[in-house]
Amino acid sequence: MDFTTAFRSAADNADDARTRQLALNLAAVHERIDKAVGFSGRADRPELIVVTKYFPPEDVQRLFELGVRDVGENKDQEAAAKAAAVTELLDDAHPSTPGAAQTETALRWHFIGQLQTNKAKSVVRYADSVHSADRSKLINALNNAAVRAADEGTRSRPLEVLLQVDLRSPLPDDHRGGAAPTDVLSLAELIASAEQLHLGGLMAVAPLDEDPEPAFARLGELSQLLSAEYPEATQISAGMSQDLEAAVNCGATRLRIGRDVLGERPHH
Ligand SMILES: *Cc1c(COP(=O)(O)O)cnc(C)c1O
Repeated sequence: MDFTTAFRSAADNADDARTRQLALNLAAVHERIDKAVGFSGRADRPELIVVTKYFPPEDVQRLFELGVRDVGENKDQEAAAKAAAVTELLDDAHPSTPGAAQTETALRWHFIGQLQTNKAKSVVRYADSVHSADRSKLINALNNAAVRAADEGTRSRPLEVLLQVDLRSPLPDDHRGGAAPTDVLSLAELIASAEQLHLGGLMAVAPLDEDPEPAFARLGELSQLLSAEYPEATQISAGMSQDLEAAVNCGATRLRIGRDVLGERPHH
């Protein structure tokens, strides 16, 4: 059964209105992904990461019960509290499988936002992957924190790290999140040689003032350059609600979708 059919039938069986809405939204997003994959002629299908920022732990629990296993967050303070709350909710709901939120077959937290060095220690406690590594200081801080967590027994495997690339062209000098494409190989080397980090690939957000398709095409080229040196670094995290088709067309392996699954974010 394909994802769209599965989520439609989950919507039919949902016993609360919010779960039903989330299931219908997931069905629609998966239908868009399937169409985009068909249009692109790709043989593989990208994974969906549901971005749950601004939405409560109960929504993450609903997503989990619907079968979603990959969620994304962009602020450490919110994500740390939510990950802890979701763990409690799932332990209460599934007392026979304590730690359901943490086992390898269970929920994976993807950190996708700009990250301050002093938050590395917190992020490695709950994150499976950090998509937003963009400078050597942050990479070193993540590795140091992951090494400490491994020593303390709070992490059992290396932290996956993706290099965030700034796709603006020409590239301004304001360092708004994302490494310059010319720095990708040297930063990749730093991650690949770090004891408790695993180099997963690249991540980017489409520039505001450009068609996403050529920008994501540049990301695809950079990814080929990277995986020629580091064959394991094949992930391309790109594509949001607005531009998922362009990202699928350019080879994205992970889509980060918030709004089109959870709805409009509450204003802060
Ligand atoms: C919020 C966010 C997303 C999801 O965007 P939507 O428009 O809600 O789909 C994806 N990537 C990053 C880095 C984000 O901060």
